[in-house]
Amino acid sequence: MYVIGIDIGGSKVAAAVVEKSGRVLFFSKDWVKSEVFSEDLLKLVFKAIGKKIKQAKDKKLKIVGIGIGSPGPLDVEKGIIIDTPNLPWQNLPLKDLVKKEFSLPMSLDNDANCALLGEVWLGAARDCKDVVMLTLGTGIGGALMANGKIIHTKKGSAELGHVIIDPAGPIGNCGQRGCIESLISGVALEKQAGISTYELFDEIEKGNKKYLKIIKKAAEYLNLALKKFDQEFEVERIILGGGMIKAKPYQKFLFDHLPANLKPKVKIAKLGEKAGVLGAAKLVFDKI
Ligand SMILES: [Zn+2]
Repeated sequence: MYVIGIDIGGSKVAAAVVEKSGRVLFFSKDWVKSEVFSEDLLKLVFKAIGKKIKQAKDKKLKIVGIGIGSPGPLDVEKGIIIDTPNLPWQNLPLKDLVKKEFSLPMSLDNDANCALLGEVWLGAARDCKDVVMLTLGTGIGGALMANGKIIHTKKGSAELGHVIIDPAGPIGNCGQRGCIESLISGVALEKQAGISTYELFDEIEKGNKKYLKIIKKAAEYLNLALKKFDQEFEVERIILGGGMIKAKPYQKFLFDHLPANLKPKVKIAKLGEKAGVLGAAKLVFDKI
């Protein structure tokens, strides 16, 4: 039994055929232009799905559904993308459109939730039921699982990136001062360093003290956030994903300063760019 898993992001659409065992076949990525129009992005998603269906058919694999992860806010039940800052879609009934085009069952969820589902299924939180995942990228995404169920809010997923850590911090996109995103997102770190995050991580790998200071402070803030989540949600596992956590010195500062009780709970995400397509496919497998 196979499902098409699609992971829509601001800069790419990833697609794969996923076996019920979790094996990923025909993984591919199509880049999305930054000024893409609504219809063109939809065409790109349809093309990606069509291509996977054809690849599966050529191998005589039986496709039973399509799972899609997309940036929110979105309405999971109705399958509508409401209004997301990183995509050109407003009130797009994605679920109905996909069902009509391909005549297959379709499930939709927020991209952060899909990444968490993937990690619980096959990655850093296997067999865990109470999990928090933070995705540290350009912005900060958050997802929460309680007793084996993804927690959905009106916006689709838990807005953990906007939890306030430093009331004297800078004002974030959400209008609040000192939320996690305003302090340690890629955008925030670039502002503090005056260079791109690629250059920043390059400099700290080289041991440049000026930039090490920035990353140490970021690790301190992240540490505070993790303690807060642990107290608030009493989770078994906290997963950290996204490009910003990949730098080894950053990870080291973070883990060196975690309290002893928290250390075994915090893990770096394992599935990388495949987490999204796996989680999206799992949405469908869970309904069968
Ligand atoms: Zn915020």
